[in-house]
Amino acid sequence: MNQAGDLPLTAQTLACHFIGNEWVRSADGRTLPVIDPATGEIFAEIARGGPQDLDAAVQAARAAFEGEWGALAPADRGRLLMRLSQLITVEAERLARIESRDVGKPLAQSRRDIAATARYFEFYAGACDKIVGEVLPYSSNYTVMAMRVPFGVTGHIVPWNYPSQIFGRSVGAALAAGNACVLKPPEDASLALLEIAHLAAEAGLPKGALNVVTGLGSEAGAALSAHPGIDHISFTGSPVTGTAVTQSAAEHHCPVTLELGGKSPQIVFADADIDAAVPVIVNAIVQNAGQTCSAGSRLLVERVAYEIVLAKLAEKFKALECGPGDKDFPVGPLVNARQHARVSAMVGRAETDGLRCVARGTVSPNAPKGGYYFPPTLLADVPPLHPLAQDEIFGPVLVAMPFDSEAEAIALANATAYGLVAGVWTRDGGRQLRMARAIRAGQVFVNDYGAGGGVELPFGGMKKSGHGREKGIAGLLSFTTIKTVAIKHN
Ligand code: NAD
Repeated sequence: MNQAGDLPLTAQTLACHFIGNEWVRSADGRTLPVIDPATGEIFAEIARGGPQDLDAAVQAARAAFEGEWGALAPADRGRLLMRLSQLITVEAERLARIESRDVGKPLAQSRRDIAATARYFEFYAGACDKIVGEVLPYSSNYTVMAMRVPFGVTGHIVPWNYPSQIFGRSVGAALAAGNACVLKPPEDASLALLEIAHLAAEAGLPKGALNVVTGLGSEAGAALSAHPGIDHISFTGSPVTGTAVTQSAAEHHCPVTLELGGKSPQIVFADADIDAAVPVIVNAIVQNAGQTCSAGSRLLVERVAYEIVLAKLAEKFKALECGPGDKDFPVGPLVNARQHARVSAMVGRAETDGLRCVARGTVSPNAPKGGYYFPPTLLADVPPLHPLAQDEIFGPVLVAMPFDSEAEAIALANATAYGLVAGVWTRDGGRQLRMARAIRAGQVFVNDYGAGGGVELPFGGMKKSGHGREKGIAGLLSFTTIKTVAIKHN
């Protein structure tokens, strides 16, 4: 074990990639510092990968796909992934502590994330031998099969906000479908993912089935999307980077699944159970300090209930205190200085434009001074076209606005470039269905909210939120393609 501070890391996690089930340093020996968001101080280092390291990972994955990993029976593949799920559960507390330190998450959140990661591998382990094709009606002297086959080598680019969970849903599904994987973790959150890759080797995954190359997006990430040996890319991150990855992948005609951001509405009608809605609405924006693609970041409330809902929310916001993730405050720091500056600038705009700030949380006096803390903030009467109502803030900031009719609620809900998730709060059954049909989003929750739950539920965006689906069986099939086999006979 290597101790980065008090973190129990496998020795070589620091400053190495994981390629072909071995820890390897970058070809040019370069590293990157890892900063603790709770203090702003460096506490570890990771390898800074480039094209050469990425190429080594792709070669290892290709050899696995064409060799031992590709030859495994689906049920055996499933047994290995189930063992990995069990190892993640056994190591859950250690992994959660690493993730909290690395990204600043409250420990309780990291524990939930690691449990969800184990659950992804469990779900997809059980699905390995249930990927079936079809026999197609064609001609009496033909038998035609549409087989579901893996792409080959899949690339996975993951963001820092839910690194383990997104790793689980994307790599878990791709491995279950029979692909060999190359993962580029986020530079701000690589440590737990390296540890999980190491556990995968311990679980018995043959060398090359899962490879991890750490480093910067502009170097290791760009090398992944440009590599002609990658047969499919799953990207989760910002729309701007998603565009760059898609353009680069297009040079070698590589399909890309995009999971991008959101500006998801919570729509509260006056007939809703408001006391049930309020804590869910708060959690949906302050969870992970608002750094959640599916955060419920816009609040639309029917005018007659508007001030009542705001008053109840204000009480909750004022009680929220920010502090270090490993001390399990309800709200941790933002992930890095850049993110803190971005959120501060956007909320600064609210002050300049005279928007109503209804409530703010606090930063604990015991929080280290160098940490990237931003108190939860509730803004009201935000004009629907204001940048704060249109752009992703990616911080614990909820913007509220009133509406007068169902038609207006639908128009406002759809009035951003995004379409990831929506929450609808009403007791009226007909309205629940009308709203669910009319909202352009990949997921609509009625009288609840939370994309993170349901491993079984397909997840993904419409419009600028991306395309393709992850999670559930739909996510598994996203990592397969169809091969048609047509046999002519008498
Ligand atoms: P980002 O786009 O900057 O980075 C995401 C990943 O892409 C990182 O691993 C990064 O290293 C890599 N990357 C950066 N530049 C690259 C390049 N040129 N080529 C290849 N890879 C590159 O996003 P972020 O700041 O890490 O994450 C926040 C964003 O992600 C938000 O917009 C959020 O909404 C979105 N997000 C979406 C989902 C979802 O499922 N829809 C989930 C989490 C986060």
